[in-house]
Amino acid sequence: MNTTPPQMLLQHHLKALRLPVFLAEYGKTATQCAQDKADYATFLLRLAELELLERERKGTERRIRAARFPASKGLEDFDFGAVPSLNKKQILELARCEWIDRRDAIVLLGNPGTGKTHLATALGLAACQRGYAVRFFTAAGLVNVLVEARNEKALLRLQGQLAKVALLIIDELGYVPFSKTGAELLFEIFSQRYEQGSVLVTSNLPFGEWTTVLGSERLTAALLDRLTHHVHILPIAGESYRLAQSRGRKKRSDTSPSQQENPETQT
Ligand code: ADP
Ligand code: MG
Repeated sequence: MNTTPPQMLLQHHLKALRLPVFLAEYGKTATQCAQDKADYATFLLRLAELELLERERKGTERRIRAARFPASKGLEDFDFGAVPSLNKKQILELARCEWIDRRDAIVLLGNPGTGKTHLATALGLAACQRGYAVRFFTAAGLVNVLVEARNEKALLRLQGQLAKVALLIIDELGYVPFSKTGAELLFEIFSQRYEQGSVLVTSNLPFGEWTTVLGSERLTAALLDRLTHHVHILPIAGESYRLAQSRGRKKRSDTSPSQQENPETQT
């Protein structure tokens, strides 16, 4: 039956129209609709909904791949109980991405291991799920590609590509000091994004110490002026999550030697 002309034509047309879910599901949906005594409009609606859902899922997948997150860590994996200084409600609100529509910035500040990269990734994933284009870099990685692009006379093209993403994540500003050129190129990115697109920056350094990586005091002041105009600053107080976890494990095994280590706390 499958090879009768109308079905072959339908197969061809649905492929040409790029409606793979219609093609895969119309038989099953027709049977279901016949059972439910649903009308033709309902049959079409059910197929259209399935196609749309699949398209959204694929779009999200594509955006997540393009973002190049270092790991797939969502808010559902984040233990807010371990960081009482963070306002969970505020983070969940930020995950709704209205700050990206406003082209605001987020700065996450805290010691190493306090969950900054995890949170930055989680907010980036949320943005991908809501349809925003995202790109994740470490600060050093971004400066490297900028310097490289400049040397290869491809800087304008790279800047154009970066301008197209709705959210640029710059992780780990503070560990590696930049060359003068590197700092200037990074400044240019902040300048270009100001009120044009969102940035999320994480740093182990308080603003007052950013000169140590950016070199010039004037450039740091100008960069902070732009970055902090419309900004949500999220300080994460406390010590490393990993350290706290391994200490917790140690304490538990000290007090009850027979107790097994909790596999959930392993990273
Ligand atoms: P940072 O970027 O601040 O140095 P990370 O985000 O890399 O810290 O966190 C270090 C490790 O601890 C990661 O594996 C991260 O998933 C985990 N982690 C940190 N904070 C939390 C938390 N509150 N809940 C769950 N996992 C956390
Ligand atoms: Mg980090």
